[in-house]
Parts: sequence; C-alpha cells; structure tokens
Amino acid sequence: MRLSQRAAAIGESATLSVARRAAELRAAGVDLADFSAGEPDFPSPPVAVEEAARALAAGMTRYGPAAGLSELRRELAESFRRRHGAPWTADQVVVGVGAKSPLFALALALLEPGDEVVLPSPYWVSFPEQIRFAGGVPVAVEMAAEDGFRIRARPLVEAFSPATRAVLVNSPCNPTGGVMAASDLEELAGACAERGIPLICDETYERFVFEGEFASAAPLARRLPETVVVVGSFSKTYAMTGWRVGYALGPPPIIKALISIQSHSTSGPTTFAMAGALAALRGAEDEIAAMQEEYRRRRDLVLSMLGRIAGVRCVAPAGSFYAFPRVSAHYRPGRQGSIEMAEYLLDEAQVAVVPGVAFGADDHIRLSFACSREVLSAGLGRMARALG
Ligand code: PLP
Repeated sequence: MRLSQRAAAIGESATLSVARRAAELRAAGVDLADFSAGEPDFPSPPVAVEEAARALAAGMTRYGPAAGLSELRRELAESFRRRHGAPWTADQVVVGVGAKSPLFALALALLEPGDEVVLPSPYWVSFPEQIRFAGGVPVAVEMAAEDGFRIRARPLVEAFSPATRAVLVNSPCNPTGGVMAASDLEELAGACAERGIPLICDETYERFVFEGEFASAAPLARRLPETVVVVGSFSKTYAMTGWRVGYALGPPPIIKALISIQSHSTSGPTTFAMAGALAALRGAEDEIAAMQEEYRRRRDLVLSMLGRIAGVRCVAPAGSFYAFPRVSAHYRPGRQGSIEMAEYLLDEAQVAVVPGVAFGADDHIRLSFACSREVLSAGLGRMARALG
C-alpha cells in the first residue's frame, strides 16, 4: 500500500513527542499546568447552545447549502459592513468548517505546483502544511521580536518573486500575538493589488487585541475588491472550537471556487451548528467582553511572572491569547532547542507548552493563556523554579 507523495510529505508533527509525553503524564495522574491548548477555556455562549439545540429538535438535520446557511452569510456580510465598512454582499461569503477549511480551500483554489505564498514568520503551524499540500511553496519572512513581532509590509513585499501567487497574513498572530498596523496593511494590500495577487488575512483572533484598535483588512476591500480576502472563525471569538464554523469573504471568483471545493469535500458545516453560530453573532457581545477582560488580566499576569525569570524575554502580545517567550538562554545539553526544552518543562515543572520550532522559531516556546489565573500562577511559579 502506497500513500500519495502529498500525504507522505505532511508526516508527523515534530511536536507530537511533547504532546504524547504530556498525555502520558496526564494519564498517570500528574496535575499538569496545560499551557499548550489553542482553545478558549470558556463555555460557548448560552444563546448559541440554546439555538443549536432548538434547531436540532426542530428537525434541522438535513443537508444545508454548500456555501453555508443563507441567513448566516447575510448576517456575516452585514456584520463586516457595520463594523468595518466592508463592501461584501452575502454571495461573497462562504461559511466553512472552522477557518481551517476555507484556508485549505484557498490554497487549493489559488496554487499551481511551485507557486509561492509569502507569509510572516513565526506562523501558525497549519499555514505551510496547507500550502505544501496544495503543491505551493511557503516563503516565510521573519518578523522581529525587537519590533514587538509587528507584522511589517516592507519585508513581505521585498520577498515577492515572479512565482508569488498569494500573501497570507495572520493578525493578531498565533503564536506571537503580533499585529499588523492599518498603514502596513494598506501598503501590503496595495502591493498585492498591483500584481493582481490575493492578500489573504486570517483574522481569527480579531476580537482579542490588548493594545489599540484592531486593524482589519476588510475596509481595504472597498478600494481593492478583487484581491482582498478575509478569513475568520467562531472558534476563538465565541469559544466555539468544537462547533467547526468559520468563514471567508472576498472577490466573487475566489468565493465561488471555495464553494465549489466545499461542495465536493465537506458539503459545508453542520447545519444546527451554523444556527447556533448565527445566534452567537447576533447576541453574544457580553460574553466576548467578559473574555476580553479576563484574557487581559491573564496576559498581565503571564508577562509579570515571565518577566521575573532571568534570561526569559517575552514581547508583550498585542493580541491573541498566547505569549511567545524566547527561552534559548536556558538551552543546555539535554535541553537544546524548543522540543527538548518543552520536554524538560513537562518533566521538571509539570508545565505543558508548545515548542517554538512548530511555528518556525526554535528559540521560543508558546504559552497559551486560555486557562485560569490559578493554573497560570502555579505553572509559571514551577517554571521559574525549573529555570532558576
Ligand atoms: N487560524 C489561526 C491563526 C488559528 O490559530 C487557528 C486555530 O488555532 C485557525 C485559523 C483555525 O481555527 P478553526 O478552524 O477552529 O476556526
């Protein structure tokens, strides 16, 4: 039995050994401080749960439209118009299975073998894999920790080549928390439009910004309707990871292609999950505000505790719910590199983190603060002692 080259190339994640070790420790009853999860620890909004249950009980159990429920597409277009002045209409929206499926479909829709996608590094783990899976070549451009991991347009534009077919940015960024300023977005969007290539903006963490206002790419679509694409998700915004509802908005030819791909792959998200998502979109602002407040407190706690560990440098994340400290000053034989450091922290401090190498930055580890302040405080205390 032979796997396709495509599947074989994806292989096992380099960080799986750490995840496996964490699972073993947990199974053995060890009380881990788990900073590895990229998902909110809050419950989904009651309005969403009630509406999904109601829809299910009312018989919403059939196939839905491949593009997603029309009402949800309309409400998403309206939400982007109201919040960002975006020009998109309901037919320029596709509702996907999380943000992950539209992102994957975008790679399939846009890339021929050898086409390059320029993206900032550190990057979310799935970006390069999805690009490669579609036959493309990720061109990662490093953003500087000294610059607060801000996502800058200039170095991205300088990385353009004749083979560049798309640009993919993620602001606020998983894992760094870095954001892209409106002026940089504008410069990058302009450069993409000039070349007629799409600028894909993954705004999954749009509602979790701690410094200043979030700059969405959506307003730029008014002037550059043919090249700006925005991807988002209900997963983090509404603590609805398991519901698997996300979306993309953009130019009609691209959205049409995404719907076609979806019609032959997932057939769209689960219908009653979309009904719940629609209810969240219409009425869960209080829940978002409560999460924002709590993430801010946790961020301050994490920064102050990490700041007290000699040799650990952490940029204050401007957004998201991750901290991405540089820990390489603590690398030694036996804990050389982020994977061994993560294993060391598991064994010595019972703290689970994600090795930075997964995001293209082996001097760092990623800590999620999607867990309680008590757990953060206890785990970071143990981490300080292990690195002391
Ligand atoms: N984009 C980024 C930057 C993420 O961090 C994630 C999840 O961790 C996703 C997209 C996908 O989220 P989902 O498919 O749950 O919407």
